[in-house]
Amino acid sequence: MSPRRWIQAMASLLSNAYLVFPFKGTIYKGTLKSFCTPGLNCYSCPAATGACPIGALQNFMTAIRPALKSGHQYFGFYVIGTLGLIGSISGRMPCGWLCPFGLIQELIHKIPSRKFDIPKALSYVKYLVLILFVFLLPLFIADESGYGITWFCKFICPAGTLEAGIPMLLWKPELRSLIGMLFYNKLLIMGLFLIWMVFSSRPFCRTTCPLGAIYALFNKYSIFRMTHDPDKCTHCKACHKNCPMGVKFYESHNDTECIRCLKCMNESCKFGAISYEFAGASGRQESEPVSEKL
Ligand code: SF4
Ligand code: SF4
Repeated sequence: MSPRRWIQAMASLLSNAYLVFPFKGTIYKGTLKSFCTPGLNCYSCPAATGACPIGALQNFMTAIRPALKSGHQYFGFYVIGTLGLIGSISGRMPCGWLCPFGLIQELIHKIPSRKFDIPKALSYVKYLVLILFVFLLPLFIADESGYGITWFCKFICPAGTLEAGIPMLLWKPELRSLIGMLFYNKLLIMGLFLIWMVFSSRPFCRTTCPLGAIYALFNKYSIFRMTHDPDKCTHCKACHKNCPMGVKFYESHNDTECIRCLKCMNESCKFGAISYEFAGASGRQESEPVSEKL
């Protein structure tokens, strides 16, 4: 197993380390739940130890109008601060190294089948999802209590359905009486993404994930940066062929789609044209070129 896979596995385990939930009979609600995980990991997953940043961001948006109305000035700016800090340091790197749902997509994509690329145009959909379902709808559409609704969590998130909805129904059968059309719709969305993951690499990250959309905005300006040496590059396109995000590294080496997985540097480029730099230090790992697999 590669070092990155180990780190992905450890991060997923740490994000869901409350493994005593079957014995305690409740989900974890301690101090750590006040902090956001760097990747997409549902707050309601029975084993979750932290808060999902996208869930927290929506909750922040839903509370703005009631807070303004009541004269309170406390807003959850820490969520924006956390995402800004992670993004400024690493750009979209958490997607490639720390996100449990990213790991799930990579593992499912290993199922043998014909593989298909995803059109570049679909990568812009996630910005629409971010603006509409995370910012605008939670802010402007309120329920009878005056609070908005967490639209992305409630109507779309396949990670939430997989990591929280289904496990909760298995764990607490009494909740099954609450199942309605809303849950079936989410089940359908999750099922479609699971099938798509077999045939295309990381379809949710590339087309829909609002967290990826936020981190992507930092890729060109973050402290960690990918670098390309055009003098060494032969335009063999091996980096593009093996990239899980379909990035043409030789054209755009800090592309918004790059999750900094370093696969191109460690496994694809035979010519030493790819490296990275972090706060003035640069790095390149020499290795045998390779694999045709993603
Ligand atoms: S794999 Fe290396 S040499 Fe080939 S196109 Fe990419 S950066 Fe250039
Ligand atoms: S360009 Fe390289 S580092 Fe970026 S996602 Fe593709 S393989 Fe990973």
